[in-house]
Amino acid sequence: MYIVTVDAEKCDGSAKCVDVCPQGVFEMEDNKSVPVNSDECIYCESCLSECPTGAITITEV
Ligand code: SF4
Repeated sequence: MYIVTVDAEKCDGSAKCVDVCPQGVFEMEDNKSVPVNSDECIYCESCLSECPTGAITITEV
């Protein structure tokens, strides 16, 4: 299982993670990405490579 976090200070609101995540992990709230379905992450790494500001961190637990 993975814990997905988004650094709100770094998030630029591009929503690229929302677009690329096949699992629907992210939603936009107040122009920031929020990982609302972290439990569904399959660690495909798409969001990590697409995020322009490196705001996403994923930890295996
Ligand atoms: S690693 Fe893949 S499944 Fe996990 S949050 Fe990122 S895009 Fe979604």
